[in-house]
Amino acid sequence: MPSDFVVRPIGIIHSCYPEKFGIPRQPGLVKSATARLEMLEPFNHLEMFKGLERFSHIWLQFLFHGTVDEGWKRTIRPPSLGGREKVGVFASRSPHRPNHLGLSAVRLVRIAREGRQVFLDLAEIDLLDRTPVLDIKPYIPYSDRLDDAGDGYTKPFEGPAVEVVFSKGVMDFCDCYERKTGRKLRELIFETLSLDPRPASHRPRMGEYGMLFWDVNVRWRVEQGVFQVIGCEGTGEEAGE
Ligand code: SAM
Repeated sequence: MPSDFVVRPIGIIHSCYPEKFGIPRQPGLVKSATARLEMLEPFNHLEMFKGLERFSHIWLQFLFHGTVDEGWKRTIRPPSLGGREKVGVFASRSPHRPNHLGLSAVRLVRIAREGRQVFLDLAEIDLLDRTPVLDIKPYIPYSDRLDDAGDGYTKPFEGPAVEVVFSKGVMDFCDCYERKTGRKLRELIFETLSLDPRPASHRPRMGEYGMLFWDVNVRWRVEQGVFQVIGCEGTGEEAGE
């Protein structure tokens, strides 16, 4: 057996999340979080996906490319423990891990070909824009769904963590952006912020935050536990790419 083995990307993710901050911590939490997986040669052929359209969800194995330069750690502080307690890297889903391999079960919306290019349209993702995908497999409920699995130190998702309200100006911006691009920006902002993307150490604080959704910089203010979305700037001009 070789002492190392080179893997190469089969495709590249174009995601609604261009920056790490604010991306959901697991797939399935934000239904309106979408991505397009652009297949690369020599994997850019519809015959390689024949039959996959019969599945609602797929497993993606990918590279946490955004943390490769940051290296890995033996122990990490998972957000679900409030950042107070350390666990071993292999007891975590941290991107700061040996080999930087990620694994997500995401919704397969459709398989498309435009000209010579094959795309997979995906939803419910937790992936950074430009993530290199290393493999794709169908999600198989009879084997992959484990009804008797324990939660470990994680807490089951119990719905929105915070209240999110929009200013009139932001609602108008989102409507206009959706008309122009077809992107459901308002739903995406609402669902993503409802999970409270702030680091655990910021949770008690009031203050202003910003986050990118596609090319839109969204600003919100936290006051008495309510997230008020107060500003949006962006054009949606790269949407047709
Ligand atoms: N579901 C995957 C897993 O378990 O392997 C990812 C879990 S990891 C906790 C999810 C976080 O990884 C996201 O919130 C985002 O901050 C980060 N992330 C997603 N894609 C990434 C990438 N390509 N490079 C670095 N970090 C990424």
